[in-house]
Amino acid sequence: MSNAMTVAYTIDRRMYLNITNRCQNDCEFCIRRTGGIGYDLWLEREPTVEEILAAARDAQRYQEVVFCGYGEPLLCLETVTEVAREIHRLGVPIRVNTNGQVLLYYDIAAVDELLNNVSAMSISLNAQDAETYVRICRPRDGVKAYEAILQFVRYCCSKGVKVILTAVEWPGVDLEACARIAGELRAAFRIRRFQGSTNTRVKNWPYPS
Ligand code: SF4
Repeated sequence: MSNAMTVAYTIDRRMYLNITNRCQNDCEFCIRRTGGIGYDLWLEREPTVEEILAAARDAQRYQEVVFCGYGEPLLCLETVTEVAREIHRLGVPIRVNTNGQVLLYYDIAAVDELLNNVSAMSISLNAQDAETYVRICRPRDGVKAYEAILQFVRYCCSKGVKVILTAVEWPGVDLEACARIAGELRAAFRIRRFQGSTNTRVKNWPYPS
């Protein structure tokens, strides 16, 4: 594996795993297009299960392992599930940061395999209704994406997985309404500050999804 590939990185007491740069969305505020978070998380290719586990060999030293991106980790559901299963065996809590559209792409049995091995799902709600979501997040699947997110939230809650819904402070996003939706779905809610610069365009955007 190239040294240029950052598969695992740490912030404070958390280890973050960078699985893919692909995503079905093209959010206006995405860090893939607005300058990033101080790590070079562009992958020249997606890492294998073995490569991710090698990068995460110190996972037990951290209070939580988080699957995140640049990109949507659950586009690689099989990979995430296999890695999560191994880290779960070590007793380390696992969270997945996701756009929540996984039920559009995988069946329930495959999703259950993942949910059996994680403690929490951080799901980007990002809008108070489907129309706003489509305008700001520009999902490949249109309004179906927003419906799939709500369905996934309900499913995770029914399985006893802790759900944190998030929304970015962004023009047109009604954060109070988003918080209300989270409450109705019995999920926690967290506001995320925009990271990056609206003046920055990454050199290789658009990244292929
Ligand atoms: S869902 Fe996340 S990774 Fe995908 S475009 Fe939006 S902010 Fe970027």
